[in-house]
Amino acid sequence: MTRTLTRRLAGLALIAGAATGLGLAAPGAQADTYPQRPITMVVPFAAGGPTDVVARIVADHMSRTLGQQVVIENVTGAGGTTGITRAAQAAPDGYTIMMGHMGTHGAAPALFKGLKYDPATSFDPIGMAAGTPIVIVAKKDFAAPDLKGFLAAVKAGGASINQAHAGVGSVSHSTGVLFDSIVGAKPTLVVYRGTGPALNDLMAGQVDFMTDQIVNVAPQITGGTIKAYAIATPERSPALPNVPTTKEAGLEGYEVSAWNAVFAPKGLPKDVSAALVNALGKSLEDESTRKRILDLGGTVPPTAERGPAALQKLVESEVARWTPVLRAAVEGSQ
Ligand code: ASP
Repeated sequence: MTRTLTRRLAGLALIAGAATGLGLAAPGAQADTYPQRPITMVVPFAAGGPTDVVARIVADHMSRTLGQQVVIENVTGAGGTTGITRAAQAAPDGYTIMMGHMGTHGAAPALFKGLKYDPATSFDPIGMAAGTPIVIVAKKDFAAPDLKGFLAAVKAGGASINQAHAGVGSVSHSTGVLFDSIVGAKPTLVVYRGTGPALNDLMAGQVDFMTDQIVNVAPQITGGTIKAYAIATPERSPALPNVPTTKEAGLEGYEVSAWNAVFAPKGLPKDVSAALVNALGKSLEDESTRKRILDLGGTVPPTAERGPAALQKLVESEVARWTPVLRAAVEGSQ
């Protein structure tokens, strides 16, 4: 790291020297070059969960490109909106960025009246990090052998069934209440600070099921410590080839996929934004970074679908899509 930095600064001095014709670095050139110190990436959920895992995978490679460490800070609470609110209010200088997702930047506006940020206008989008299909998972000794049996058991079990989620407006909450409303189930909702801790309780059999991002649950499904009833995408995932799609398993109308993406507070200087976009882009072109995401069942969107403009569009369409669906689902479950 120190060597990289020294090389970068030496390069800078050369460029500045050539520009001024004096053979000396222009005063201030060094201080103006971003980044000069570690960057904080706020993860609005607990360590070990999907948002945290995706953040650590891309931050690892971004650190190498930027020549400064991208440090993860978990700021949890209120379905991810606590951390995102805090990060949105940080100085737009590139030293605080965040890993948002379909919940914080898509579902939350439907469910929080007093949300202190607007997903479409409070941020400079940096880019998509991963697509994350939703999987319906249950504790391993849940008796139902298949999805149809599971749906019947959840419906019949009423409030005796415990469904885990990561807070109102989170992915597991929004896709979970949508599931309940389609199925006609009324389970007891159990809230966690992220689906990392929720998964621990699912493995221990303390809760019955959840709907969560594949990158959190794929290794445990493969390892047999939890059960997967279906994946909510039109196609099966190469990471979980034995898990049927919702449609194949007999649940029509429940197709949902989430995503994680990097945002910065609104108003980044252009060069800072370009450096972050470049670093994130490079991370997703790197074979070993891609492999880490794909092995967990995540997807890496094609280049044209993952830059700042594509992300801005996605956020706007997700808010428009989720707002009516979630309001109806939540009203229906009351
Ligand atoms: N997947 C979680 C959610 O339900 C959050 C997390 O822990 O990443 O939104």
